[in-house]
Amino acid sequence: MRIAVYPGTFDPVTNGHMDIIERALKLFDRLYVVVGENPQKETTFSAEERVEMLKSALRKHNNKIVVEHFNGLLLEYVKKKKSNVIVRGLRAISDFEYEFQRAQFNREFEKGIETIFIMTKDDYAFLSSSIIKEIAMFHGSVKGFVPEVVEKKLKEKFKK
Ligand code: ADP
Repeated sequence: MRIAVYPGTFDPVTNGHMDIIERALKLFDRLYVVVGENPQKETTFSAEERVEMLKSALRKHNNKIVVEHFNGLLLEYVKKKKSNVIVRGLRAISDFEYEFQRAQFNREFEKGIETIFIMTKDDYAFLSSSIIKEIAMFHGSVKGFVPEVVEKKLKEKFKK
């Protein structure tokens, strides 16, 4: 059984994340989508809300995906799940330095765990959770960029 872990803040999940997940599913039998905290980011949605949105958007993949919140060292989580692969998405060169540093760091501490990168689909290269929140905050349309459940949640959060 090929098991991988896709960690992120997912504040909220976008179709860019969904695309990475769906493509990772072609490579792995089970994918743990793990919602974490990034000390450099203050989140708009609580961990519970972020998990709920992901679970709901990924319902049709129930048998292959587990969504969980985890607040701790990612490497410990990966080992606990008997996995040795971390999946990350890459959008632009600007993602590279951050991802490169983290992947190097993780390999330094745990030689048996590899980070693999899935390149964004062109259509989503510009898409980020922060851009989505900015649009939603000013009541613009985010249709087509996020799952429907997220669209609804954003409308509630940034009510006129
Ligand atoms: P983090 O705070 O851990 O970077 P994010 O939720 O911002 O969490 O992103 C999780 C992962 O998904 C990262 O590897 C990020 O590069 C990737 N990602 C985010 N948006 C996209 C996108 N539009 N296309 C491809 N990958 C993406």
